[in-house]
Amino acid sequence: MHAREWITTLLIYNLIHKYKRLNLKNVCFVFVPCCNPNGLYLATHFKKYKLYKNNGNNVDINKNFDCKWELGGKFKGKFPQSEWETRDILAIIEKYKPTASLAFHSKGEIIYYKKYTSLANILSKYCGYKIVESKTSFGGLSDFLNQHDIPSFTIEVGSDKLHHPITPRHLPSIIRQVRLLPLVLSYLI
Ligand SMILES: [Zn+2]
Repeated sequence: MHAREWITTLLIYNLIHKYKRLNLKNVCFVFVPCCNPNGLYLATHFKKYKLYKNNGNNVDINKNFDCKWELGGKFKGKFPQSEWETRDILAIIEKYKPTASLAFHSKGEIIYYKKYTSLANILSKYCGYKIVESKTSFGGLSDFLNQHDIPSFTIEVGSDKLHHPITPRHLPSIIRQVRLLPLVLSYLI
């Protein structure tokens, strides 16, 4: 979602390999390694974009969803769902109709929640991240899904002491912290 947070793309590819091997029945996981390929390209190929967050149109995709969009601030886009990246994510939601969702970002070792506090608490026990109520986030994917009664949590991976962008040498510890979260959430809902 946010260009400089590309460590989460590596994380999701790793989880895909891990979850494939589990060969689970009666549950379907849909992993989306990257929602912002243009932003990711900029952040990983050009020094001056190293700390860039937005997409190729300089819009923050995680403020572009139709959920109190008007409160999203400077980079929210011209209108709700103005960006193809946002609409692509909505198409995935429409296609698979998820019963719950995790949105991985970096950093801070935090689970942001808006509703479903007890689920957030259980996830917190499995990864050691603290839970924080998301009061000032608008137009985000998790905001949008929670508004449609789909439990959704934003997981900020990596210690806040690390600098953006978090480098791959921190990936093994992040994987260890969060690898069970999709599985745990699937059992809880
Ligand atoms: Zn982010």
